[in-house]
Amino acid sequence: MPLQIFNSLSQQRELFKPIEPGVVKMYVCGPTVYDDPHIGHLRSAYVFDVIRNYLKYSGYRLKFVRNVTDVDDKIIEKARQEGCVDLRQGVQQVAEKYYNKYKTNLKKIGIQDPDIEPKATEYISKMIDLIQELKALGRAYQSEDGIYFDIEQYPHYGELSKQDRDAMRSGVRIDKNENKKSFLDFALWKKSKEDEPSWTSPWGPGRPGWHIECSAMSMGELGDTFDIHGGGRDLIFPHHENELAQSKGKTSKPLANYWIHHGLITVGGQKMSKSLKNFITLDEVLKEDPLYGDEVLKLTFLGTHYSAPLDYTPERVKMDRAVWKRFLEFFENARQAEKRGNAPSEKRTQQIYASFREAMDNDFNTPDVLALMHGQINQVYKENDPMAALSVAAAIRNFGSEVFGIVFDRNDVSSQIKPEIEEWIAKRQLARKNKDFKTADEIRENLLKEKHVELRDLSDGRTTWRVKL
Ligand SMILES: [Zn+2]
Repeated sequence: MPLQIFNSLSQQRELFKPIEPGVVKMYVCGPTVYDDPHIGHLRSAYVFDVIRNYLKYSGYRLKFVRNVTDVDDKIIEKARQEGCVDLRQGVQQVAEKYYNKYKTNLKKIGIQDPDIEPKATEYISKMIDLIQELKALGRAYQSEDGIYFDIEQYPHYGELSKQDRDAMRSGVRIDKNENKKSFLDFALWKKSKEDEPSWTSPWGPGRPGWHIECSAMSMGELGDTFDIHGGGRDLIFPHHENELAQSKGKTSKPLANYWIHHGLITVGGQKMSKSLKNFITLDEVLKEDPLYGDEVLKLTFLGTHYSAPLDYTPERVKMDRAVWKRFLEFFENARQAEKRGNAPSEKRTQQIYASFREAMDNDFNTPDVLALMHGQINQVYKENDPMAALSVAAAIRNFGSEVFGIVFDRNDVSSQIKPEIEEWIAKRQLARKNKDFKTADEIRENLLKEKHVELRDLSDGRTTWRVKL
């Protein structure tokens, strides 16, 4: 069965057919960089990383765009809170700081960069053009404090979020804004206050609204209509509804043929927030489990279908650590079989790939793939056949690394080289203590180049390592 995707726009599972055969154009809303990244950001990035990997695995060429919102009310607010004297500079600094943190996190967990990563501030002139065109079409109007999108002039509003206007009323923040014609009208361009970041426009100095940023970046990079638009469920309304209204309002064409939305993460049933002190970051995950915390986190993400909510609890982490251990043990067994001179059966490995593909073609059903992996492992233990063990190991190893970005098979290598690596880490610690950062960096680079060993410096001063195959 070819790939089927649940499309939020039609609320149905649909056969995936890209506009241009063999090529997929995908846009995903990236982060607004104003705070520390948490595991919710990582789930979002990972979900679309797996989708991207699977599409590639299926033979598509991809153009994957994930944006960065680096100018927004939230970033300005953060710069104010941090007491920046020059607010404009402060906004840039805040955006840069949290963008770097986000990217470091993704790198640590092994999520690759998108093909194109536009920043909103690089697209201001395109946003201004788009607003001008919407104004010329009578779908936007000028007001005291900026330019607004005119809902009454756009008949398809509500198409994506499937809400009637009363329901939407509760979804948007109602500000006492006398400048809007209708409560649902939203800002395309905002006049900036004296100290805020601003760009010259036909309507005086100002800055873009959040939604227009994504319309300009997605259409700018991928054209009027592209294949997949993705993001978290929390973005369906108002962000994606508004993005669609702006784009379709200008082009009269669909913006994307498939809208994919992933579920959100809660912690013990609650939304993550700093005030509730349940804000979980990758650093915390790695502090608990420095060696494999990130791989276990990926298993946690894969264990729930991307579209469903995921409740992160200590019990779940414990369970997924046990799952991870089971994989490691299985590979240890497979290695023993290999040492005894056995070889995998290509036919069986191919059959297993086919079953994985069938699950993934079913709206990227990763929990089913994990279940199939376990089923195969159980079967191997039952059969007690070394050839079967190696066939299953090859299938899990290859599919795991290519599609899930997980290196399952590395336990053995680690134990063999442990004493040597620890010696190098001690030498590097000493170099760092003596502020000889050149030597410290060389040791790190050589280990990676020659031994495929990746070092990780933890916040408490320890250094841990793992084999990166
Ligand atoms: Zn967006």
